[in-house]
Parts: sequence; structure tokens; C-alpha cells
Amino acid sequence: MLVQVDGLVVNTTDVGESDKTLTLITRQYGKMYVHARGGRKITSRFMAASLKFTYGDFVIDKTDKHNVLHEASSKASFFGLWKNVSAMCLADYICEVLADVTVDGEPAEDTLRLALNCLHVLSENSRPPQDVKTVFELRLTALLGINPDLSGCCRCGRSDKDWYYLDIMNGELVCRDCGKGEEDERMSEITRTARIIMMMTGAEAYAADRVINAEQNRMFSLPTDPAVRRRLGEISEKYLINHLERSYKTLDFYKEMIRSD
Ligand SMILES: [Zn+2]
Repeated sequence: MLVQVDGLVVNTTDVGESDKTLTLITRQYGKMYVHARGGRKITSRFMAASLKFTYGDFVIDKTDKHNVLHEASSKASFFGLWKNVSAMCLADYICEVLADVTVDGEPAEDTLRLALNCLHVLSENSRPPQDVKTVFELRLTALLGINPDLSGCCRCGRSDKDWYYLDIMNGELVCRDCGKGEEDERMSEITRTARIIMMMTGAEAYAADRVINAEQNRMFSLPTDPAVRRRLGEISEKYLINHLERSYKTLDFYKEMIRSD
């Protein structure tokens, strides 16, 4: 059956002499692998719309066994990504994570929109890549329903403390007074999970909570202090990666790029 979808090309693989397979994250059907006949030929009518990082409209012949591309037209190409190596590497990471968390056959409207927003900002170079990464990671945890509760200490409820422990796998803050003197071993017996703790200042908790809960048009409002923004980036990454329980080659590559910048 022919279906019309809109989606983002997150990966392409060469097949045979001139074909390619697109990995699409579509709003309607989640992840789809789509065969583009002749997609690598310069003369192909799919050429422009089947490049990586293209967001477009696609008409696909969808069967149980495979999907074949019929028509494709580009809505956004994010050309700015190709001018900035670290932005491109980060876009790669965003696409890899998006593909990883998207289920075949299930709509992916919100996660797709988040990724498109981030690619747009990266392409326009309107925010530093490290901030885009922080926002993507934090907002994604909320869309996946695994976000931490950063509204205050999970024991005493206080939100006016200078320092907290962030229990990553439980997604909870414990203030230093409530967490004082606890033995890690006893805690891990209670929670039955590996305990990964990061220190978080009150200012960092407040800032991360705002990013997670902000309206979409305000989600890039991060604190001006570069040290806080850097620390938020470390926390958001550790939090997401531990919850997704895997590593990403594209993330390692992005970090290498940043280091050599
Ligand atoms: Zn407390």
C-alpha cells in the first residue's frame, strides 16, 4: 500500500551499484527502512531528498517485508550543518539516539520534533553545540518518561539547598543533609540498581528542571554562567546514556572533535 509520511533521513546505506537504503524517522510510523532505487545516481529524482539530515515528504510503497520509495521532496536540508564539523558530529549523535529510541511502526511525533528543532538551531549556528546537546538530552528524557525529578529533595522536599546528590538510575535528588551517613551498599540493596551518583548544585538542578519543563519556544534558555552550562552538559549526558544503557560511537566522535577544536 502507498503511504505518505514526513520524516527525517537519519542514515543512508549504499546498496548495489546505484541504490540506497534510507533510515527514516517518520512522524506517522516511527522508524522505517526504505529502499531507494537508483537513489545514488546524480539524475535520480530522489537525490536531494534522500541525503542524510534531510527532512521531507515521502511516498512509500509499504509492505510487511520491505518499503520502496516512490516519491520524495525535501522540506528542510539543514545545509548549515555541512559548514561546521562539530555541529555535524553532534547532528550525527542526535540522529543515532533518535533512531535508537524510535520503535518501528509507532508514531514518533514529539521526539522527531525535538530532533528537528535541535538540527535547525545547529544548522543556523544560533546556539553553541554543547547547549544544543544538553537541551536534546534533557528534553528527550522527559519525552521518554525517564526524566529526573529535580523539583527538590525526594526525602524532605526542600528545594533551597546548595548541594544535592543526583541518584541517576532512580532519577531523584537527595539533599546533603538527608543523604548524610548512608552506606552505599545498604542503598543498593534497597533500590536493587547500580547506584550512580552525581553532585548537583541547587542552581544546576533549577536550570535543568527549567529546560525539562519549559514551553518548546523557551527550551534553549540556559544559564549564562559557562561553568553551570558545562556541568549541565556532563549531567545530562551521564543521565541519558545510563538510562539508555548503551554507548554511542557518534558521541565519542563528537567529543574527540570538541577536544581538538
Ligand atoms: Zn532532604
